[in-house]
Amino acid sequence: MIRIYIDLEKCVGCGQYINACPLGIYYIDPKLKKAKIDDLKNCLECRACEIQCKNGAIKINII
Ligand code: SF4
Repeated sequence: MIRIYIDLEKCVGCGQYINACPLGIYYIDPKLKKAKIDDLKNCLECRACEIQCKNGAIKINII
C-alpha cells in the first residue's frame, strides 16, 4: 500500500510531477494552484513523482 504526502507549503504548482507520472495521477487544483492526486489505486509505486519534485514537496511511504 502506498501513501503520498504533498507538502502544500513546499509545492509551487510547477507541474513537473504531472509529466513524471506515467499514469497521470496528479493534477493542479485550479483554485489552490497546488498538486492534487486523482486516484492512487493504480499507482505503480515507481517514485518518479517524488524524485522529480525539486522542492521535496512529495513524500512517498510504501507500507
Ligand atoms: S509513484 Fe509513480 S505511478 Fe505512483 S503517483 Fe508517483 S509517478 Fe505516478
